[in-house]
Amino acid sequence: MISVLVDNIGELVTNVAGSGEGGPLGIRRRVAVLVEDGEVAWIGPAADAPAADRRIDAAGAAVLPGFVDSHAHLVFAGDRAAEFAARMAGEPYTGGGIRTTVGATRAASDGELRATVRRLHAEALRQGTTTIEIKSGYGLTVADEARSLRIAAEVSAETTFLGAHVVPAEYAARPDDYVSLVCGPMLAAAAPHARWIDVFCERGAFDADHARAILACGQAMGLGVRVHANQLGPGPGVRLGVELGAASVDHCTHLTDADVDALASTAMDDGQSATVATLLPGAEFSTRSPYPDARRLLDAGVTVALATDCNPGSSYTSSMPFCIALAVREMGMTPAEAVWAATAGGARALRRDDTGVLRPGARADLIILDAPSHLHLAYRPGVPLVRQVLHNGVPR
Ligand SMILES: [Zn+2]
Repeated sequence: MISVLVDNIGELVTNVAGSGEGGPLGIRRRVAVLVEDGEVAWIGPAADAPAADRRIDAAGAAVLPGFVDSHAHLVFAGDRAAEFAARMAGEPYTGGGIRTTVGATRAASDGELRATVRRLHAEALRQGTTTIEIKSGYGLTVADEARSLRIAAEVSAETTFLGAHVVPAEYAARPDDYVSLVCGPMLAAAAPHARWIDVFCERGAFDADHARAILACGQAMGLGVRVHANQLGPGPGVRLGVELGAASVDHCTHLTDADVDALASTAMDDGQSATVATLLPGAEFSTRSPYPDARRLLDAGVTVALATDCNPGSSYTSSMPFCIALAVREMGMTPAEAVWAATAGGARALRRDDTGVLRPGARADLIILDAPSHLHLAYRPGVPLVRQVLHNGVPR
C-alpha cells in the first residue's frame, strides 16, 4: 500500500488531550502527517517529514479526524418527504411513520436495499464521515432483519440489530409474542451480522421491561448495548441503559436530574463517562421539536457524542457538519466541544480508540477542510467545507 504525506497543515486537530492547544482537541500547528498501511505512521514538524510515495498539500488548511457517525438507519426503502411536509404544516411527530418504511423495506429487493445503503454511505463519506454505525429495524421479520444487517455489514463493521424498533402491525395485539420473536429466532439470525443491539424504549414502542429483556438477550449473545432513550418524553430508557452498561444512550432530549446523575455516575478515570449521551439534533430539526440540552450534560461530566440519526422519517441527513452547526447554535455547545463530540465522542460511543483521533497507530481516517480552522464547521453552516477525505489511508 502506498504511503501518503499530508503536508502544510495549518491546524491539526488530534483529539489527543495535552498534545497541543485547545484542551481535548490537542491542536498542533504547521505539522505534517504520514499515513502508511491504513494507519497514521508519523506526525511532526513539516520540516522533518519523512519521504512518501505521494504528497497532499493541505495549503495551510485545517485537518481533523474523520467524523464518527455512531447512529444511523441506512437500510430502508422509500422516502417520507410527504410526511415531512405535513409535519412542517403542523402535524405532530409520533414515530408512527416507521411502519410505512417497514412496508416498503419488506417489499424491496436485496439489490434495492444495497443500492440505498451504498448511496448513503458514499454521501456520508464525501461529507467527511469515515466511520458510520448502521442499524437494522425496518424489516421486523427474521429474514428481513437478517438481510438488513448482512447488507449493512458489507459497508461497515459497526452494525446494530434493532428488531425492537417498533412492534410491527401484525403483532400489535400481542406485543409479548413479538418480544419473544426478537429475543429468539430474530436475534439468532441477526447476531452473526451485528456488533450491537438497540431498542426504541419509548411510549408507543417498547417499555422498560420489554426493553430490558431484549437487551439482556442480546448481551447474552455477545452484543454490546445501545438504547434509543428519552426522545419524545421523559422515560426509563437512559437509566436502563446505565443499568445494563450501555456504550451509549441516544437522543436524551427529555432528561430528569436523575437521568443526568445516572449518566454522570458512569465516570471513568480518564474523565469520560462509560455510557455516552449521543445527541441527534437532526431529529429535533426535522420534527420541529425542542433540542436536547448538551450544556447540562457536559457540565455534569457526561461524555457527549453527536450523530445524524440518518433515516427517512425523522432525520434524513447524513451531514455531520450540519449536526455540529445545530449543536453549537441550539444546544449550548462550543464549536470545539461539538467537533470533539462528532469525532472522538462518536468513537467513545462505539467503544473505539483507533479512530476519532490522530496519533501514530490510529486508523488513517482524516479530513482536510476548505478552511483554516475547525471553527468554520459551525461558523459556516451549510457550506461543503470538507475538501478531501482519507479513509483507511486511501485518498477519496
Ligand atoms: Zn435512531
